[in-house]
Amino acid sequence: MEHLERDVVVIGAGPSGLSAAYELNKAGKSVAVLEARDRVGGRTWTDVMDGATIEIGGQWISPDQTGLYSLINELGIETFERYKEGKSVYLTEEGEAIAYEGADFPVAESTVAEMDKLVKLMNELAADMDPDKPWEHPQAEELDKISFHHFLRQHCTDELACNNVGLFIAGGMLTKPAHTFSALQAVLMASSAGSFDNLVDEDFILDRRIVGSMQGVSKAMAERLGEDIVFLNNPVLKLEWSEDAVVAHGSSITVSAKKVVLAVPPNLYSRISYVPALPRKQQITHQHQSMGLVIKVHAVYETPFWRNEGLSGTCFGPNSLVQELYDNTYIGEETGTLVGFISDLNADAMWELDEEQRRAAILKAMAAYLGEKALEPKVFYLSDFAAEEWTRGAYATSYDLGGLHRFGPAQNENVGPIYFSSSDLAGEGFQHVDGAVRMGRRSAARIIAALDGTTYDQSYDGVATLTAGKDKVNA
Ligand SMILES: Cc1cc2nc3c(=O)[nH]c(=O)nc-3n(C[C@H](O)[C@H](O)[C@H](O)COP(=O)(O)OP(=O)(O)OC[C@H]3O[C@@H](n4cnc5c(N)ncnc54)[C@H](O)[C@@H]3O)c2cc1C
Repeated sequence: MEHLERDVVVIGAGPSGLSAAYELNKAGKSVAVLEARDRVGGRTWTDVMDGATIEIGGQWISPDQTGLYSLINELGIETFERYKEGKSVYLTEEGEAIAYEGADFPVAESTVAEMDKLVKLMNELAADMDPDKPWEHPQAEELDKISFHHFLRQHCTDELACNNVGLFIAGGMLTKPAHTFSALQAVLMASSAGSFDNLVDEDFILDRRIVGSMQGVSKAMAERLGEDIVFLNNPVLKLEWSEDAVVAHGSSITVSAKKVVLAVPPNLYSRISYVPALPRKQQITHQHQSMGLVIKVHAVYETPFWRNEGLSGTCFGPNSLVQELYDNTYIGEETGTLVGFISDLNADAMWELDEEQRRAAILKAMAAYLGEKALEPKVFYLSDFAAEEWTRGAYATSYDLGGLHRFGPAQNENVGPIYFSSSDLAGEGFQHVDGAVRMGRRSAARIIAALDGTTYDQSYDGVATLTAGKDKVNA
């Protein structure tokens, strides 16, 4: 067993842990990162499947995600625009595929009016929220007591309008059924993206992609940090701590440090044995943050055939098995790639089927939008983060009904030398790579202030790098 002494040990080499380590390293603090997997990037992961490069995890970046933008600018990584030309397709409850332009779904005018009313309401509620402190919203308690499903129906009697609006947050973001999370949690999702308008605008929220891959952002940080800092295949299952010291036990390395950044998803906090146990507040809080469940479907075709038919590849169907579909062709590729999403209860049902039945059901649902050509991809792959021991779901964790205002205030409090850092604890960029970066940088800033005896600026949003202009100092 190798033993290291460092100022800070970071547990988890996803974008949050690596952003923290990167900033700490540039600020002259000695760091070690212990990662459970044999790769960095966590929920961002790119691999080649049957000859096709697949973004298995997180991939899109939106204009408001300025924490991630500032990081990629620093790393010299570029972005490209998602293919957006042509009409979108909406699948009605009766299974009719309707091509349409503009922001409004092709539904009855009265339903559009009801949807607009709900969107306006969500925008107003989001405008009153500081995403860093959703529990301080003037209606926090009231909104946290009601499920998003019931909240929508409290304000609207048009079932289709409720389903269409619900889709953007339930299936589309938190990937949980709308009856399992609160209206407050839904408002946070909107507020974290700037507004509900931003969230429902796929051209905003799924604006651009990273040249190379999103995992490449983590790889670039890990490369700059070097092999003497980032240690793979080292799950930490035991963390000893006192007020001013920790010992993190990986499988082949132990690290003694003054501080620890715990950058694993919140649902995995309890995978670690803490000696002594964490305080009561954290032990309870951590039981109420659970992962959503979504299957990301990748289908690669000889050509992006839908483009020739004047379609963008963007499809929505609140009653479909595949509720969203997008053109995910990488720039310059001749083949065409579609990416679809199967959320929560539909995902449960899919994992009950055998592989052949599952493939047939999913492709049939995709063909309902884009025609029979969708039935025959040359590569078909399903992202299955729920089966991954070091994630256990997708995209991210959120609180159960009533949990956000009850437990949220404790989520970012450090416990002695332990600092929690995850996209799932972020305000702006909540559940996104941007939030992971912001949280990593903020954890680093708090630790630097604590180690240096200076004051941490509470208003720091994780957008500006802490050490602009400095390169790796420990080289
Ligand atoms: C399918 C999918 C699609 C997504 N799409 C998008 C998108 O388009 N855009 C976007 O911005 N976001 C997207 N996301 C979300 C985004 O990927 C996450 O928000 C982000 O990766 C979270 O970063 P993180 O560092 O907080 O956690 P993670 O990425 O989960 O990293 C945590 C790391 O901790 C490690 N770990 C866990 N336990 C231990 C332990 N005990 N010891 C050591 N290491 C441990 C894990 O192996 C992992 O590497 C998507 C996520 C998924 C799953």
